[in-house]
Amino acid sequence: MSAPAFNTAGARLIVDLGAIRRNYRILVDRAGPGTTVSAVVKADAYGLGADRVAPCLAAAGCDDFFVATLDEGLRLRGVLPTARIAVLDGNLPGDEAVLAANDLVPVLNDLGAIERWRDQARQAATLLRAVIQLDTGMCRMGLSEPESARLAAEPDRLDGLSHLLVMSHLACADEPDHPMNREQWHRFVDLTARLPAMKQSLANSSGIFLGDDYHFDLVRPGAALYGINPTPGTANPMTEAARLQGKIVALRDVDSPMTVGYGATHRVARSGRIATLAIGYADGFPRVLGNVASGVLSDDRADKISLPVVGRVSMDLVTLDVSALAPEQLTLGTYIDLIGGPRTVDAVAAEADTIGYELLARIGSRVPRLYNESDRQIQTELRAL
Ligand SMILES: *Cc1c(COP(=O)(O)O)cnc(C)c1O
Repeated sequence: MSAPAFNTAGARLIVDLGAIRRNYRILVDRAGPGTTVSAVVKADAYGLGADRVAPCLAAAGCDDFFVATLDEGLRLRGVLPTARIAVLDGNLPGDEAVLAANDLVPVLNDLGAIERWRDQARQAATLLRAVIQLDTGMCRMGLSEPESARLAAEPDRLDGLSHLLVMSHLACADEPDHPMNREQWHRFVDLTARLPAMKQSLANSSGIFLGDDYHFDLVRPGAALYGINPTPGTANPMTEAARLQGKIVALRDVDSPMTVGYGATHRVARSGRIATLAIGYADGFPRVLGNVASGVLSDDRADKISLPVVGRVSMDLVTLDVSALAPEQLTLGTYIDLIGGPRTVDAVAAEADTIGYELLARIGSRVPRLYNESDRQIQTELRAL
């Protein structure tokens, strides 16, 4: 089955590739000379579509990519034949041959993984690239401190591995004043000092903004590339890259008291106008946003009149009070922005008691992604649809 046409789907996600490239360059500037900026494109580039986002980043000069699973690595390899691709989940026993055959670099998360990757190199009589992860405070992935100490004492465990990168991951980088940041930094510096010399990486998006001493040789941003604010609480240095829209599939004038939606949680007291959009929690618009979120008419870039979501979010539908707009401003098929513009992904996420990461990553597979290079081009292409 071919991809659904954008004007037949109920909702759509407009992805601004120009903004993603711009964000990459902002991070390159910020990281400074001597630090490589990789791109984390796991979870389908945080829902935006890795097949399109990764080549766009490669064109912007990115040579290093991170995915979560082997599966994602194989798919990305099909899109980027020559880029360096690292798999964060690493090599479960038996994965080594397929990793090597597809030139995928596992993040080695324990001594057993190092051993198996070294065996793979030995069998193939070749040198293999690798990333080694040290746990400095997440208790999730990476060598424990005793394992790191053992590796330091027995460095020949790394024979057969080349172009090594050692990494760790910050638990609290989005809270610049959190003492964990400096603690993890110290632990990382102490642990790596005892290992053979190799390139080093600690920072995710927010880590890049903690200061130059967090940059090391390579940084690993994901969220910031996609427009999520890496510095919560201060102005977003990144450019918005995603706009989620729902299409009006019903318009109803109410002229007597009525309740709206499941549970009858909203009541139109006297009169009003309700628009029903073809987007719901099946599309990743969180159910918790019922009676909480609001939308903006897509063409209404000037006034940005807020259209409150009224009633519960259904699986496939959401209802908005559009009484504030003139009737002729809306028609069946009109798109309403639910994320993007004045409704930033971070703001909507806060309303849903989550983070922009989750909001974007959960945008459903039913929602077609529409790609464009700049906002003006998007407008032109949308008019043509
Ligand atoms: C997801 C992830 C990143 C990217 O984090 P952002 O906060 O999105 O920049 C970097 N490193 C690791 C290990 C990750 O799992």
